[in-house]
Amino acid sequence: MAAPLNQVFFPATFQELFTAWSRFPDAVPFAGGTGLIRGQGKQSLELPRNILSLDKLEDLRRITRTERYLEIGAMVRLNEIIRLGKIVPEVLTRCLEHIAGPQIRNIATIGGNICYPERRLDASVPLVALDAHFELRNGQNSRWISASRFCSIPGPLAINPQELLTRIRIPLEQWNYSVFKKFKGSSGTDSGGVIVFIIRNQKNTLTDIRIVFGAERILRDKNSETLLIGNQLPLSRKEADDFVEHWKSYLAALDTPEAIIRSEILNFIESQVLFIVE
Ligand SMILES: Cc1cc2nc3c(=O)[nH]c(=O)nc-3n(C[C@H](O)[C@H](O)[C@H](O)COP(=O)(O)OP(=O)(O)OC[C@H]3O[C@@H](n4cnc5c(N)ncnc54)[C@H](O)[C@@H]3O)c2cc1C
Repeated sequence: MAAPLNQVFFPATFQELFTAWSRFPDAVPFAGGTGLIRGQGKQSLELPRNILSLDKLEDLRRITRTERYLEIGAMVRLNEIIRLGKIVPEVLTRCLEHIAGPQIRNIATIGGNICYPERRLDASVPLVALDAHFELRNGQNSRWISASRFCSIPGPLAINPQELLTRIRIPLEQWNYSVFKKFKGSSGTDSGGVIVFIIRNQKNTLTDIRIVFGAERILRDKNSETLLIGNQLPLSRKEADDFVEHWKSYLAALDTPEAIIRSEILNFIESQVLFIVE
């Protein structure tokens, strides 16, 4: 008998999920659905022909903590992560609090935000800065990929066909100063990008600094960061100016972002670096 045209699967195990996926290779994972139905104002929603609901996969809802890592299942909702409190790095919490409104955050999952195929959404930015890793699984095995590598691959290609994001592993390191900012988008878009700035120091030495911007793509200039790591705090005005100049050259060499965002990024970096100047 011919298979019906539209199907929704509710696998309870990975085996069931990948068996269904191999029978229907065009099937699309459905987490909270807020990304899949986004922007549809019509009476009837357009959904993919075959859907793999992730709702019954208990493994994807797990949250575990070791001394060094916080591991969050892909189906954990944004508000659940926020509610975990102080255990979550501050810059990630701040970012999630600024995604949509509370109703959407009660439905939207971290996995759906990371895997949104059209562009990098907000949560990717702090996850890159925090050096998070993602576990991806297919029917045969699983692999870990750094958030930064994942996000450097264009959205739809970051995940192989019939591969699922299962876990997000976030190092639990202490950051002494964390700032998150969201830029307003031009009309019609909800975000002009987000930027995070985190630093760590030991006594008077700057031991780590990370600045990551994300909109259409993720920007991070590791050369500029290296310039400051190991320097004494507070920084001299010249060190701060050199740092901003490096970012200026880095941005100037890119074909994007647009001039307006470029100047907003530089203003933000300058204002933050000035905080750690003598
Ligand atoms: C009104 C509104 C405002 C919003 N504002 C913002 C905002 O300010 N900032 C922001 O970042 N986002 C914003 N969003 C987007 C929202 O954050 C995402 O829609 C949401 O995070 C996606 O999660 P989901 O669980 O609903 O994913 P779904 O819609 O279920 O899935 C999204 C995509 O990811 C794929 N997918 C989901 N889970 C997995 C997985 N485990 N493995 C592989 N692929 C998977 C799906 O197949 C689909 O292609 C907004 C959305 C709405 C509706």
